[in-house]
Amino acid sequence: MEKISVVVSCYNEEKALPLFYEEMERVRKQDFEGVADFEYIFVNDGSRDKTLEIMKKLRAQDSKVRYISFSRNFGKEAAMLAGLDAAEGDYVTLMDADLQDPPALLKQMYDVIKNEGYDQVGTRRVTRKGEPAIRSFFARMFYKIINKMSDIEMVDGARDYRLMKRKVVQAIISLREYNRYSKGLFSFVGFDTKWIEYENVERVAGETKWSFWKLFKYAIEGITAFSTTPLILSSVLGLFFCVVAFFAIILIIVRTLVFGDPTSGWPSLVCIIVFVSGIQLFTIGIIGQYLSKTYLEVKKRPIYIVKETEKDENNK
Ligand code: UDP
Ligand code: MG
Repeated sequence: MEKISVVVSCYNEEKALPLFYEEMERVRKQDFEGVADFEYIFVNDGSRDKTLEIMKKLRAQDSKVRYISFSRNFGKEAAMLAGLDAAEGDYVTLMDADLQDPPALLKQMYDVIKNEGYDQVGTRRVTRKGEPAIRSFFARMFYKIINKMSDIEMVDGARDYRLMKRKVVQAIISLREYNRYSKGLFSFVGFDTKWIEYENVERVAGETKWSFWKLFKYAIEGITAFSTTPLILSSVLGLFFCVVAFFAIILIIVRTLVFGDPTSGWPSLVCIIVFVSGIQLFTIGIIGQYLSKTYLEVKKRPIYIVKETEKDENNK
């Protein structure tokens, strides 16, 4: 029988994880009994609460459960990669532990791959219910901007929740970049993707790990990882100001020769200097962003470090 790997990244999910397991098992028994085998891969991303203990407890009572525990918090992207690396199934699905990715959709996604010949099925939220309005606004703006700047298509509202065939998983894990932006990576590898839409569901327990600042940094990550348009923007701005300066110089030379008034214009000069230095710092900042990403990539540090897994238990 074919096997489905369910990869769940968990950071401080002691409240949500047992509920997730219960619901997922319910769906498995209802929809997949006799259809496919399952394995659960819980990735503990350096949680500070009892998440790991819960994983071990679930492992003890259910051999379908496997877990990977990191040496510290490496972020959701790293956790998802670790899960994909470890997954052995013919199909792999990525889910959050907070039940915002409804397990009940899984059968529908599975059927799409089985019957309609798609390689992967993604999910997107059509509503952002339960999210602060300002956050939705910035999210929408982000997708508008990045889709203008990048050749890779980013789908607004797309979640990480998806089901993919083994060959898609292989393609994703062959991308070993350090600055990972999964939404871009999934779109980069291509394959035939179908999108299933659903209404936003609120977190079942615990609280979100994404502050506005973290999301902002993640957005910058997405832009620098999949577009070099900001660098072109710097060049265009530079060129524009060169042209302006050129005509200004001619104007001033002519004016001085004709009217002979060398010392006027101090305030405007100061304004120009401040404005142009601002632009310079801004564009140096953009270049710095790309440079720092390059710096982190060339160091080739591991994307995550594993402290223990269920395999260690046998050796004790
Ligand atoms: N998560 C993680 N590492 C982190 C932050 C989050 O593995 O550093 C996991 C978290 O446990 C959850 C999923 O990523 O399963 C989504 O996180 P969250 O629900 O906080 O994000 P939101 O749904 O609010 O965007
Ligand atoms: Mg969530």
